[in-house]
Amino acid sequence: LNKNTIPYDVIIIGGGPAGLFTAINIHRNKKCLLLEKNETTGRKLLMSGSGRCNLTHAGDIEAFLAHYGDHFRFLRTAFKHFSNEDLIQFFKERGLYITVDKNGKVFPATDNAVSVLDVLTHECKKKQVTIHCRETVLKIEHRDGKFWLETKGNEYTCLTLVFATGGKSYPSSGSTGDGYGFAQSLGHTIVPPKPALTPIYIHHYPFADISGVSLPMRAMSLFRANKKIKEHAGDIGFTHKGLSGPGILDFSRFMERNDRLEINLIDVNMADFTTTFLAACDTEGKTAIKTFLKRFDLPESLLKLILKELNLDFNEKLAHINKKTRTAIIDSLCRYPFVIESLGGFNMAMVTRGGIPLTEVSAKTMESKIIKHLFFAGEILDIDGDTGGYNIQAAFSTAYLAANAIQ
Ligand SMILES: Cc1cc2nc3c(=O)[nH]c(=O)nc-3n(C[C@H](O)[C@H](O)[C@H](O)COP(=O)(O)OP(=O)(O)OC[C@H]3O[C@@H](n4cnc5c(N)ncnc54)[C@H](O)[C@@H]3O)c2cc1C
Repeated sequence: LNKNTIPYDVIIIGGGPAGLFTAINIHRNKKCLLLEKNETTGRKLLMSGSGRCNLTHAGDIEAFLAHYGDHFRFLRTAFKHFSNEDLIQFFKERGLYITVDKNGKVFPATDNAVSVLDVLTHECKKKQVTIHCRETVLKIEHRDGKFWLETKGNEYTCLTLVFATGGKSYPSSGSTGDGYGFAQSLGHTIVPPKPALTPIYIHHYPFADISGVSLPMRAMSLFRANKKIKEHAGDIGFTHKGLSGPGILDFSRFMERNDRLEINLIDVNMADFTTTFLAACDTEGKTAIKTFLKRFDLPESLLKLILKELNLDFNEKLAHINKKTRTAIIDSLCRYPFVIESLGGFNMAMVTRGGIPLTEVSAKTMESKIIKHLFFAGEILDIDGDTGGYNIQAAFSTAYLAANAIQ
């Protein structure tokens, strides 16, 4: 082993948004080293937002906090010190302008994640942060008030250590959950990591033929043992084997195998649709079912499959549809039942739920409550946000707090 016996003030493990932003914000007089296992930093950041990088979301902090499930309280201080507005300002001041789409998602005006990473790496250079890529940390020990890190060929030592190793999802990006083992070896416990923001597979899925079709902003309810446990609304996408899209990804946090997900496939609630439909059956009985249903925002390909499932001819006149079939039509359109066969695994999940328990970390500083001078930033923490820029913002905000607490 090539031993670097002169201790660094700070070593950061992981060159994702959390690691890079910690490095950028650490006090200038600190000798800081960032270790990244990949050939370059920010591999997952470059994949984010389909290569466009949805780096945060518009809105005030209270609205923001509602997008982190039950763990939002932990992030309040981090967002108070470094909010979405601060993030936008940070990039603007460095010449990267920002656009906000109609749903509030914030992107770089270049529409390219590369420009976000460029700003971060340029800032690291300006701050003279040493970055060693292709350095996979394999082992960490804490003795004599210092941290000792081993990679394949080198040994490093430091006074302060930051874990910014990310979660376990999309392991091909480098985030393979190494930080969990390191933290455990230093005395932390781990909330078992699970895939989050994941597509779902459906039992006896009937819509494989319309894979790629999507529905904007639909209402859905989740049932477990026939009891409704949660409601949600969001965009839905049909895939080869199940459902995806932001509405499903966000809702997947609450789902389990064998749950029933009922989706209102049209843009009208069940009571209003029932009234309109039954009235139309009485007053315009000669209208074909196809013509009537085209008034609702439903793709024709999906409509065809549903009518086929009900054994209904596309041109059946409303007056000729019997009572039982009318009820079946209402049920299919307003509460189509999907039984969840399974959730996508870590290779499909955009983030990881679980990780370093929030009870073991100071929400004010991101310092470990178990080992002094050990800090955490980003997705390694037991935090997972909705789609829409919430995860990258959490990585930046927690990194900002950690960096400022390192004295
Ligand atoms: C396909 C996809 C799209 C996404 N899109 C968005 C989006 O648009 N908006 C959003 O907010 N979030 C998005 N996310 C989530 C977001 O990218 C992550 O939450 C965010 O990158 C977490 O940042 P991080 O720095 O904590 O971890 P990461 O970005 O995962 O970085 C961790 C780094 O640590 C390195 N590392 C790990 N172990 C070691 C080790 N032993 N030694 C050295 N280095 C190590 C890894 O190689 C990696 O580079 C997306 C995720 C995916 C997978």
